[in-house]
Amino acid sequence: MPRNTQVTIDPEAIRHNLGQVKAWAPDAKVMAVVKADAYGHRLDLCVPALKQADLLAVATLEEARAIRRLGIDQGIVLLEGVSHFSDLAMVEELGLELVVHHTSQIDALEQFGRSPTHRIWIKLNTGMNRLGLKPADARASHQRLSALVGVEDIHWMSHFASSESDPQQTKAQMQLFDAAVAGLGGAECLANSAAIIQSPETHRAWVRAGVVLYGISPLAGQTGASLGLREAMHVEAELIAINQVMPGERIGYGGRFMVDQPMVIGVVSIGYGDGYPRAMRDGAPVLVKGQRASLAGRVSMDMITVNLTEVDDPQIGDAVTLWGPGLPVEEIAQWADTIPYELVCRMTRRVRYNIAP
Ligand SMILES: *Cc1c(COP(=O)(O)O)cnc(C)c1O
Repeated sequence: MPRNTQVTIDPEAIRHNLGQVKAWAPDAKVMAVVKADAYGHRLDLCVPALKQADLLAVATLEEARAIRRLGIDQGIVLLEGVSHFSDLAMVEELGLELVVHHTSQIDALEQFGRSPTHRIWIKLNTGMNRLGLKPADARASHQRLSALVGVEDIHWMSHFASSESDPQQTKAQMQLFDAAVAGLGGAECLANSAAIIQSPETHRAWVRAGVVLYGISPLAGQTGASLGLREAMHVEAELIAINQVMPGERIGYGGRFMVDQPMVIGVVSIGYGDGYPRAMRDGAPVLVKGQRASLAGRVSMDMITVNLTEVDDPQIGDAVTLWGPGLPVEEIAQWADTIPYELVCRMTRRVRYNIAP
């Protein structure tokens, strides 16, 4: 029997969450962000549930190619554009839409002699200071790109640095953007998940939805469920041993967890080799038969140890939920001092993926 460490993905949840995005931004078209293998949920399991998305968006050419290999001919935007001249032919072959965020990319397109795509998205840096042309260069860049053979539409994009936490900064970025593109025409796309939820003035012709599609809250202090979303990922492992330990004993590498009362310790078949973070602190909850148990001792490569003292009659072979229904990933991320985005992205190839029945 295969090791019972598995991720179950629920495409119905993803379909529901796309509907929720459309309810939040009823007048906008939706770019569904499926980079990083659909935030660790796997492209092959998720993209078929996103047929109602107006475009898909990925970070890399390889991700776009993986979608085409699934036989999906939906439009795809390459969020970072390409960094190598030699990749432009592949953009054309795969039928991708390009983001242009740097003048070196405009140079490459001019050298290519035509546009490999009918639609180009110019990305402006309005304060994130990661990718993006200077707002002051918007007009000149637009002119150069308009002159390329084969360009039909030039659209505009920018990315918010703190849309989940700082609506003032978001508004300042939006105003900078609006001033830069005034009078230049083309559709606009600003809002990521957090701005879709809480900055409706940033909804333009397009929004870019990422983490909310997977049922995860981008807002601190909220869960997907509290926002009307459904979690799409359920991570489970199983109890492979149950042991008694006595006061004065220690558990795991480095003896991090000190036992202060007689305790039942369960060993669970998941570790950092599967993507469960080694940074997880003692006390992080897991669910055994719907009851909470808590991490006791450092995460190993293949296993964790949990305190089962509060669990009613645990048995070897019992399923253990690491996150998913009844145990929000948003809560678990805090125990590893990270964000839920990272937890779902870092599941490894060792873990078996299933589709929910
Ligand atoms: C990842 C990404 C998004 C999606 O962000 P969420 O917070 O997951 O909605 C949107 N835009 C760009 C440019 C991105 O890189």
